[in-house]
Amino acid sequence: MLRLDLSEILRTVGMHQRYEIDEAPYEDEDVEFVSPLIGSVTVTNAGRLLLVRGAFDTTLELECARCLVEVRQPIRAEIEEQYSLAEVETAHYHDVIPMVVQDEENELPEGLFDGPVMNLGLLIRQAAILTAPWSILCREDCQGLCPTCGKNNNKGACTCAPDGTYRPFAALPELFRQEPNR
Ligand SMILES: [Zn+2]
Repeated sequence: MLRLDLSEILRTVGMHQRYEIDEAPYEDEDVEFVSPLIGSVTVTNAGRLLLVRGAFDTTLELECARCLVEVRQPIRAEIEEQYSLAEVETAHYHDVIPMVVQDEENELPEGLFDGPVMNLGLLIRQAAILTAPWSILCREDCQGLCPTCGKNNNKGACTCAPDGTYRPFAALPELFRQEPNR
């Protein structure tokens, strides 16, 4: 379903088609979808432009910026793209048919089209990355990791000094005090 054959749309100016997005959770390189992806896109042949419009809901798994634990963030991502159409001679069809092309006005992401087949997964991944918060916390008062020992300070303070200077022998005077006097 994530690859859409747009042959008919590409041939027919004015034609539009709606495609439902209903995908089980999956991982795509650095993006992890942890709930189903639900939404739709509409692809329109507007003559010189191919319009791709839509939106979907899902949940991303992200990392707390301070303590690095997993955080689940529901998102609603929107897809709003347009690509240039031009008459292209193709070996497949031995014919001149409208195809999506790269030009100065509209950037065409690499790998988005394989002939008339569009890789919708690529647009979904791109939209999710744009929608995801660039920084997220597991909770507002997350204590983060100790910069010295790396311990997660949400799970109790570590023995490092509050200013972050690691004092490996901080506990020693206490030990000496416990030594019996001779
Ligand atoms: Zn955190």
